[in-house]
Amino acid sequence: MKRIYEPLAYTDRPIKERYWNRFLPDPAPHYAPVRDEVTAEFAVIGGGYTGLSAALTLAEAGADVVLLEAQRPGWGASGRNGGLVSVGSAKLADDALLRRYGETDTRQFFAAERAAVDLVERYVDELELDVDRHSRGYTFVAHRPDRVAELHAYGEEYNRRYGLPYEFVPKQEMAAQGLNSPEFHGAVNLPVGFALNPMKFLLGLTRAAETAGVRMFSETPVQKISPHDGGYLLQVPGGQVRAKRLLIATNGYSSDDLPGALAGRYLPVQSNIMVTRPLSDAEIAEQGWWSEQMVCDSRTLLHYLRLLPDRRLLLGLRGSVRVSEDNISATRAKARADFNRIFPAWRDVGTEYFWSGLICMTRNLVPFVGAVPGMNGAWASLGYHGSGVCMAPYSGALIADQALGRHRLPHPDLMQRPLRRFELGRWRRMSLPLAFSWYYIKDRI
Ligand SMILES: Cc1cc2nc3c(=O)[nH]c(=O)nc-3n(C[C@H](O)[C@H](O)[C@H](O)COP(=O)(O)OP(=O)(O)OC[C@H]3O[C@@H](n4cnc5c(N)ncnc54)[C@H](O)[C@@H]3O)c2cc1C
Repeated sequence: MKRIYEPLAYTDRPIKERYWNRFLPDPAPHYAPVRDEVTAEFAVIGGGYTGLSAALTLAEAGADVVLLEAQRPGWGASGRNGGLVSVGSAKLADDALLRRYGETDTRQFFAAERAAVDLVERYVDELELDVDRHSRGYTFVAHRPDRVAELHAYGEEYNRRYGLPYEFVPKQEMAAQGLNSPEFHGAVNLPVGFALNPMKFLLGLTRAAETAGVRMFSETPVQKISPHDGGYLLQVPGGQVRAKRLLIATNGYSSDDLPGALAGRYLPVQSNIMVTRPLSDAEIAEQGWWSEQMVCDSRTLLHYLRLLPDRRLLLGLRGSVRVSEDNISATRAKARADFNRIFPAWRDVGTEYFWSGLICMTRNLVPFVGAVPGMNGAWASLGYHGSGVCMAPYSGALIADQALGRHRLPHPDLMQRPLRRFELGRWRRMSLPLAFSWYYIKDRI
């Protein structure tokens, strides 16, 4: 497996202190690894939201499906995220999307992003999942006074996209909405999205896939993919899997040789989260932050935050380049310093949890969800740019539909264009320190 991060990234170390571990049942769902030979019509590689949703969609249509997960379902980003369900899976602004892809396809993309939020809602309702849902849409805040105009522009953009109203909240009215922080200078409330407990969602999808008849295998890293007899032969440590069709759902934990068609065409980036101890009513009143909205700020290296149902504050941030013990400590300290600036009244409130994981960017700056070039009967879905709690399950359903030869959901062409290669190929991570330094400066000037 040609992976591009330090080995530590692929161990349990980054999730040792993960808040969501508290929600794992005891015993946690366990699936045996593949032993000897397994045959199926469809093989799904990767047990995160993408893979689980793809496998569930296939099994519900009556297909014979195996899901192969290198560790255990939810081990990747799907068991580590902040639980913010919202649009935003492209790294291009609306006008850039329009220029690059034209009106019709860009509209399809907006429809797909909206449908992705609806799909999570449908999964939660139909599977009767208790996911600790909160937040009406989400709130975007300006991290500097001169970014307030951006809020209006963003609200207008939203309005043009979805025909839905937005609410502008000037700085002096933020405290009345429970959003009091010296760091934020205005807000817009945007109507689409909500927050959930990502582990409860993950466990619900895992159960549903198993109940629908998916044969699930943990601790089964696919090490080699070869064409075989009109389908594929997958080498795993305990044996091999033969499948007619293949769905690749490995996102930020992909390898450059699985398959070679993806080599140099996806870029994993670290994302980090800290969670405090529960806050008392007095502490919440002192800071004046009691909003149940999920919040993102206007930085390029953005912060996202939400007050969890048990009154802990969750703060997420980007910007760490290497996965090493030193970097984990340094990022934890940076998260804490940012937190103290945003919430000065809580500077003595301890951090109880801190963890990290890999999200996935593409050179196209939009997700890739489609047929793998040069591989008959193989599809892949990846690259949600850190916004995959809804786009991942949605895209999993899209590639499952493609593999079944049917079309039910908006699937824009722009998500199916072959992935461009990053200029630095297998050395593409080397671009990150420079990019992060530039974003850091841009966020400050
Ligand atoms: C810290 C953090 C916070 C985030 N916060 C948010 C948020 O609040 N909102 C939001 O929308 N998005 C968020 N995201 C992003 C979101 O979690 C992801 O986009 C989404 O979970 C991707 O799902 P996935 O199934 O495609 O990939 P993953 O969940 O990463 O799953 C990929 C799986 O593939 C497996 N795998 C890899 N290679 C192989 C192989 N060769 N054989 C078998 N299995 C293999 C891995 O073990 C892994 O379990 C966050 C991500 C992180 C890391």
